[in-house]
Amino acid sequence: TARKRVAVLGSTGSIGVSTLDVARHLPDRLEVVGLAAHTNAAQLAEQCRAFRPRYAVLCDPAAFTAAVRSDFPRETELLGGPDGVAKLATAADVDVVVSAVVGAAGLHGTWAALDAGKDVALANKETLVVAGPLVTELAARRGARLLPVDSEHSAVFQALTGYTAADVTRVVLTGSGGPFRGKTAAELEAATPAQALRHPTWKMGPKITIDSATLMNKALEVIEARWLFDLRPEQIDVIVHPESIVHSFVEFADGSVLGQLSPPDMRLPIQFALLYPDRVPGPAKRLDWKALSGLRFEPPDRTTFRALDLGFEVAARGGTTGAVLNAANEVAVGRFLAGTLPFLGIAACCRAVLDAHDFDAAPPLDRLLALDRWARAEAARWQG
Ligand code: NDP
Ligand code: MG
Repeated sequence: TARKRVAVLGSTGSIGVSTLDVARHLPDRLEVVGLAAHTNAAQLAEQCRAFRPRYAVLCDPAAFTAAVRSDFPRETELLGGPDGVAKLATAADVDVVVSAVVGAAGLHGTWAALDAGKDVALANKETLVVAGPLVTELAARRGARLLPVDSEHSAVFQALTGYTAADVTRVVLTGSGGPFRGKTAAELEAATPAQALRHPTWKMGPKITIDSATLMNKALEVIEARWLFDLRPEQIDVIVHPESIVHSFVEFADGSVLGQLSPPDMRLPIQFALLYPDRVPGPAKRLDWKALSGLRFEPPDRTTFRALDLGFEVAARGGTTGAVLNAANEVAVGRFLAGTLPFLGIAACCRAVLDAHDFDAAPPLDRLLALDRWARAEAARWQG
């Protein structure tokens, strides 16, 4: 088999680093041809010295200007800004683009890659939350595949192999419940960033870790599943599973339910997306069947964790709601981490910004980007 030529957008993040670990373990299957970071030039340069890619990108123009060329290998072309990202994502010698930037900022590179007909291994769920119908339509039109990296969606994708949406009655997304599972709203009033950043089962970047504590992550994943698998919103359900071993369930028309099990380790879904449909030994932790016992499942607490209902609402309403919810949440999470918004204020702020926006059922991309900016400004000054 020919090696797949991989570009990683967001290589210095949690998913980016795990992707490079997969590539390091599978050198005869994967070739790293490009890496992109935002501002972390030192780590990007170190990754380039290890993988010797053809392209390296610093998305932030100031970081690009300040970068020391001699830190990078001679054969690596150093690019800057959004144009650099687009150049990497569309390069002729790239087969698959790993979309692992955090937030709506990931839409640009994902869009460029799909528009060029590249397969995208998608970690950046925000892309589908903001512009699900436009992104999936673009992929279909260009004959590009969207391969899920998010563990729940990878589980669904794996269970669906050989079937279509028409065979499926229900998809049940599992979630750990986060660090605040079992807590009441009263108990969460004074929740701190340090407490919220202590995730019980996954080690991830700060934004998605806070999203996991509010259950906004599961909300975004409901929307992601809706677009990725062309499901009706009422076919999607969420169940709390504290061990993070079962990564989701698919229930078929005949009543059979398939789940995918593995320890919580993103290297497995990343590898599956990159090598699909092949399965080969890789670096991901393996399930220890002898130690396996007591998998628990319980309904989510939608009263305390208000964000979850927002996800179902946005999945059902579509239109401009996803872009607005996502932007408000990004800003609210930033404010919570900065200490200017209480924990429960995150969902409340999102609710308020969503309710205040000018709804449009079929917005074009530029309208979504304008609403993204509007919602960020609203969330930045929201006071409850
Ligand atoms: P991190 O915060 O760890 O990494 C983010 C990456 O994106 C970094 O490489 C960062 O560069 C880059 N970046 C940040 N802002 C920008 C920007 N404005 N423009 C371009 N690049 C930018 O995030 P994660 O790896 O945790 O998450 C990445 C995505 O994957 C998110 O969408 C998340 O929801 C999704 N995901 C993550 C999982 C996980 O286990 N971490 C699991 C499932 C999904 P720099 O380092 O230079 O700042
Ligand atoms: Mg997930």
